[in-house]
Amino acid sequence: MTPERADGLAVKRLEGLSGWGRHPLAACSAVRPERHRDLLAVQGPRLARGRGRSYGDAALRSDGTVVLTERLDRFLEFDETTGILRAESGATLKDVIDAFLPQGWFLPVTPGTQYCSLGGCLAADVHGKNHHRAGTFSAHVAGCGLVLASGERVVCGPEERPELYWATAGGMGLTGIIDEVALRLQRVESAYLKVKHQKAPDLATAVRLLSDPAHDATYTVAWIDCLATGSSLGRGVFMAGEHAAQHEVSLRFGNPKSCKPKRQKRLPFDLPAWALNPVTVRLFNSAYYAAQGSKGTFVSRYDSFFYPLDGVLDWNRLYGKRGFVQYQYVLPTAVAEEGTAEILGRLSHSKRASFLAVLKRFGPQGPGMLSFPMEGLTLALDIPVSPGLFELLDELDGIVMKLGGRVYLAKDSRTGREVFKAGYPRLEEFLAIRRSVDPEGLFSSDLARRLGI
Ligand SMILES: Cc1cc2nc3c(=O)[nH]c(=O)nc-3n(C[C@H](O)[C@H](O)[C@H](O)COP(=O)(O)OP(=O)(O)OC[C@H]3O[C@@H](n4cnc5c(N)ncnc54)[C@H](O)[C@@H]3O)c2cc1C
Repeated sequence: MTPERADGLAVKRLEGLSGWGRHPLAACSAVRPERHRDLLAVQGPRLARGRGRSYGDAALRSDGTVVLTERLDRFLEFDETTGILRAESGATLKDVIDAFLPQGWFLPVTPGTQYCSLGGCLAADVHGKNHHRAGTFSAHVAGCGLVLASGERVVCGPEERPELYWATAGGMGLTGIIDEVALRLQRVESAYLKVKHQKAPDLATAVRLLSDPAHDATYTVAWIDCLATGSSLGRGVFMAGEHAAQHEVSLRFGNPKSCKPKRQKRLPFDLPAWALNPVTVRLFNSAYYAAQGSKGTFVSRYDSFFYPLDGVLDWNRLYGKRGFVQYQYVLPTAVAEEGTAEILGRLSHSKRASFLAVLKRFGPQGPGMLSFPMEGLTLALDIPVSPGLFELLDELDGIVMKLGGRVYLAKDSRTGREVFKAGYPRLEEFLAIRRSVDPEGLFSSDLARRLGI
């Protein structure tokens, strides 16, 4: 990096920067503060970027500076009595797990990858498989440090400056740079989970298993076979998990509070665009449905249960050079099953293969003004970019908007302003708070400009 900026930080031009979906690509200038005081010195139009695990353009800023937080990853304090960990915002979930799981502490809420930063998790107000019981990430944060556009650092949280906190949680980096997070960890007895898999031969069964109190568990989710049609539309595998007590973990696993590190695999090249097509995905789906659906009850290591995709680094190259879109929507309970059937029908009719489709029931909406979850059903689909995809997604947006749902900003790279505004009714409240802390609009992103935020 060569020093260029008035604030003395070295700036680097990153030509093909993207989110995890590798679409879109943008040319961005980036700085990487090594110490906290460097972060305070950054001025001008800017945006924080954690580990770039949002899929679309949320962590891109092509008309300003991207502030990489990866070096600001220190643990600052841990209180054993409350379980509250204070850490710099660039620390990853994996950093936290590696240090604290062997001592019997785990994350209160985790998304499906451990390679994201604490700041990124709060800014997107991420959810996990326990949303119906535990809510979003922000519900477990006692407070955070925020560096405002003026360079002033403030502290906010549910008790202190709550309006600013609930604008920041889910605010996608648009209120300032989170420099520190105080996260309340949960006690666990082991690094393992008791897991139950069950086949759901159609969508109605998958929805029933996700909603029926008799099948409820701390963590629930269903994998869906998007290419199934007719009476099998929406068939899948329902998966439920509970943290295992020490005595439930077999001695053959060794120390119940840690797992032997797995050998990391890499995908060293981009797969050709045709590799994931309806035929290969149909084959994969049939095999997965049969194998996973018949597993019954078993004990799983935490990483296989929470982060199955992290097993292959760079798995996003599976989708080829053009990248892919993760389309995630939520629909309110009353219309969720009917709307999901309509969306799955359109998708399977279009013969587009979503390699991964995950259905989850959300609990009540939280106080984050732009937080994604609302009570209902959410479906996440990974679809390779190819001609005609965006027209199809516009159609799906139309269904989501008509039924009072919304799309998830942390996954989005293409939705329109009308769909966004209809889905996020607290936008004006958010904008008023943002104006009060950033009147010149120094914090922005390619996503924010696209959506008119
Ligand atoms: C395999 C995989 C599975 C996933 N599963 C889930 C899931 O189950 N649930 C879920 O909710 N999400 C999920 N996600 C999305 C991911 O959790 C979020 O996008 C998260 O925000 C990524 O964190 P990051 O550090 O990579 O942030 P980035 O992608 O770098 O940034 C995301 C947003 O946060 C802002 N931001 C980042 N750091 C800061 C900071 N310090 N201060 C202020 N703003 C900041 C950025 O400006 C941007 O708007 C998944 C992603 C992947 C790749």
